[in-house]
Formats: sequence, C-alpha cells, structure tokens
Amino acid sequence: MTAALTIALPPEADRDPASYKLLIGGRFVDAADGGVIERASPGHGFVVSRYARATEKEVDTAVEAARRAFETGPWPRMKASERASVLLKAAELIEMRLEEIARLDVLESGKPIAQARGEIAGAVDIWRYAAALARTLHGESYANLGEAMLGVVVREPIGVVGIVTPWNFPFLIVSQKLPFALAAGCTAVVKPSEMTSASTFVLGEILLSAGLPEGVVNVLAGTGEEVGAPLTRHPGVDMVSFTGSTRVGKLTMAAASTSLKKVAMELGGKNGQIVFPDADLEAAADAAVFGGFFNAGECCNAGSRLIVHEAIAEDFLAEVGRLTDRVTVGDPLDEGTKVGAIISAAHAQKIRDYLDGAASDGARIVRGGKALSASAGEYLAPTIVAGASSTMAIAREEVFGPVLTVLAFRDAQEAVRIANDTNYGLSAGIWSSNMDNCLTVARGVRTGTVWVNTFMDGFPELPFGGYRQSGLGRELGLRAVEDYTEEKTIQFHKGPRTNWWLG
Ligand code: NAD
Repeated sequence: MTAALTIALPPEADRDPASYKLLIGGRFVDAADGGVIERASPGHGFVVSRYARATEKEVDTAVEAARRAFETGPWPRMKASERASVLLKAAELIEMRLEEIARLDVLESGKPIAQARGEIAGAVDIWRYAAALARTLHGESYANLGEAMLGVVVREPIGVVGIVTPWNFPFLIVSQKLPFALAAGCTAVVKPSEMTSASTFVLGEILLSAGLPEGVVNVLAGTGEEVGAPLTRHPGVDMVSFTGSTRVGKLTMAAASTSLKKVAMELGGKNGQIVFPDADLEAAADAAVFGGFFNAGECCNAGSRLIVHEAIAEDFLAEVGRLTDRVTVGDPLDEGTKVGAIISAAHAQKIRDYLDGAASDGARIVRGGKALSASAGEYLAPTIVAGASSTMAIAREEVFGPVLTVLAFRDAQEAVRIANDTNYGLSAGIWSSNMDNCLTVARGVRTGTVWVNTFMDGFPELPFGGYRQSGLGRELGLRAVEDYTEEKTIQFHKGPRTNWWLG
C-alpha cells in the first residue's frame, strides 16, 4: 500500500522565484542571448530559482576572465598568507549564511534540511582546512648534486581550472575543489549542475565580499552540453576537476584530452557493506539503513549493496527491514525528515525501472519499491531488494535511489570477491569484531575508502576518491592543494662550467 504524504508549501512558493546572474570577471551578468533556466523544487513542485543560462559564448568570456586574472592579476602572485586570509573570511561568511545556503540546497535538491545544515557546516570546515594548507604548500631542494649544483623543485599553480559539479551535494562538492584550487593560486570557472546552481552563485557573491579579486572565480549556470562540454575542451583551461557520473566523466576526459589537460575525476560508486556474524549487529543494521537511504540513496558513497554472512542473513535482513520502517520520508523542510524528495520525475522513473528489472531478474522486493503518493513532489519509499545475485543490474549498477540490495557470502574471501564484482571502486564498509576479517576485507577490496565498524564518515584531513571507474586522483587530504599545481625543476649552477660539451 502506498502512503499519502502531505507536503506543506513553504513561504517561497508565494514569492517570485529567486533570480541569479552569471558571475564573469567580477560582475553578475545576464546571458548574451537572454536565456534562462528555471528550477522547480523537487520536494514541493513550485519554481524556486531562475538562473541566467550560459552557452559557449559565456564559456569563452569566463575563461578569458579567469585567464586574465591568472596571467596578470594579483591572486597567483600574493603571499600564501594573504590568500589564506581570503579563504578564512569566506569560511566565516559561509558560516554566517549557513541557514540560507542550506535552505537553497534543500529547495533545489530535495534533501532534508537537518542534513543540509550539516553539509554546509562541513563545507565551512573544508574552507578553513584549505586556508591552512595554502601556507604549507612548498617544494623541495637538492643540495646533494655536487658542489656546483643546487636543484630546486617549486610548485606553481596549474592555471585556469574548470570545475564541474553534480546536483546531489551542491555546496559541499564545490567546496571539496574550489578552496584548494584557490589556495594553490589558481583561477577557476565553475559550472554547477543546472538543477542546483543557486548555492554556487551565493558562494561567488561571498568570495567577492571576502576580497577575492575579480575574475578569479567565475560561475556559469547551464547544461552539460552547452557549458560543461565547451568548458572541458576549452584550450584556455589547464585542468578539469569533475564530479558526476562515470558516463559523463568519460566524455569529459575525452574532451579534456584535446588539449591534454590534467583531469581529476570523482565518479559513481556501487559500494558494499560487508557484515560478519561477530559484528555489533545493532550498529551494523543502523549503518546499513543509513548507507542505503542517506540523501535518498542519491550519494556516490551510498552503501547500496548489503553483503551479509549467510549464517545471519535472514535475521539481519529482518532487523534492517524493521529499521527501514522507521525511516521518515517526507517534506525536505521538515526537521524530522530523514529521506526527502527524488531529484526529478525522470530520475524517479529510472529508479523504478531498475526495480522492475530486478523483479524480472528474479530478485524480491521485500520493502518499499513504490512511489509514495504526495500532495507535491517526487518521493520513493526506502526499498530493500533481497535474493539478488551479483550478475543482476540491481547489484552491479549505480541506481542512485533509496534502494538497498542484499547479497549473501560464506567467508571473507567470497565477501571480497562480491564487493569487487563491479566496475566501480569508491568505498566499502566492514562490520566485524575480528581483526583478521577486518584486515582481509580492508586489504582485499579495490576501493578508495574503507570504513571499518563505521560508515560514511568524512574528514578534510583524509583523501577521498575512487579506484577503477569511480575516478581518478584524490580530493581533500594533505596533498589536496598540490593537485592544483605544476612542479617546476630549477637547476642552479655556480662557478665555471663543469660539463663542457665541446671541451
Ligand atoms: P552527471 O554526470 O549527469 O552531471 C554532472 C555534471 O556534469 C553536471 O554539472 C552536468 O551538467 C555536467 N555535464 C553533463 N554532460 C556533460 C558533458 N557532456 N560535458 C561536461 N559536463 C557535462 O551527474 P549527476 O547526475 O549530476 O550526479 C550524479 C553522479 O555523480 C552519480 O554518478 C554520483 O555517483 C556522482 N558523484 C560522485 C561523487 C564522488 O565524489 N565520487 C560525488 C557526488 C556525485
């Protein structure tokens, strides 16, 4: 039976949608052709934002502005301490506007408000971390190359960075890239998802108020075809930092290869949580539900495969089912909501298609599986698919919805085999009180992150990224700023020439 949700319309529904202009060269401007993108709240159905719609023409002017700011502007030439002050000021201003930014992300993405606040607070922490790293960036020196030689390796900002972000964590993901690029002294053109651009425009405004010189950060709303593709193949862009689907990541790498740009890729995942009988099963069950349904499963790190030891599979599944019944689905603006709206009707349909496919492949839908009827917006019931095998699409592909697929294993080796039986390699979770199980699985899985007796924690100090088709490179961590630099080797020779060629 489907539940009926009553969604209260917030005050924004009675106002004109908020309007956002493109940020190019320090000014907010309309698109040259007057184009506009409208975004409706997926949780409430009304139009919440209108952005100027950039096309290739604005990509050219924004890249030119970023290029100018890089070649002749003060930003790359400042002391790191001065750049750090701007980043710290930005962090302070984000914190002051936390509630406003969280609300924008909620209205455009459908995520729950309490969760969105946590994301913006996390972003503030990342901006502060990047400010600290700005001042630790350094090269190397070699005084061991002989009396006459001194070798110095300096790190220089790579140049203009094209940043492309998805809709599922609109403010958090740009904050995993931009502050580090800025800390290195780079300039940037940022293209947020055309569905969730508002908070990135607010970030642009904040950066100008924090004292960032004009042209250092430019923000373009627009579609992947009209802005993402021209930006990533633009010869004036030195590096592309992309977060999104593996499919578009591949297109982006191909586009970037035309001028051999550096690429950093954060892509999809099909992450497994492996549960052994000796685990704290209560904690593991809570983490299974969290991993499957956090952000409505629209999460690269979603623990979308629950890989349970066969000895406990039935009881554990029953417990996970009971917890699933307690997950509150509903109005993203409601403080008690755990699972909000699905990003769009088209995406909700794609998720339902996966469930139909799973059923016809012989798997069983033991919880949820249906759209929830709601007075407005797109909502899906948290869903558990049991009896799946590793060959089924539901167990291999990224569904990107509130769907937990359950698989069983016999021993640690088989658990590792199942976890690795996908093209992705973003993250994995292990639940066991036995060190041997934890180590066997932690070392055996081919993923960028492994959580042991915990799931989906994140810290700016720890690098994040994927193996295999989940990405290329790492974000965050001690080396996050280095990623936005080039290394230059300078060799100093003193005294008379020591290595004559012609004698
Ligand atoms: P998407 O790939 O459809 O879009 C991502 C961005 O790319 C958007 O801004 C989009 O407009 C742009 N784009 C689309 N076509 C383009 C093209 N041809 N050239 C350049 N840019 C183009 O992804 P999405 O649906 O917005 O986000 C969901 C995906 O993102 C999931 O696969 C998820 O796993 C992944 N993701 C990964 C991470 C990570 O850190 N690994 C984090 C969040 C999301």
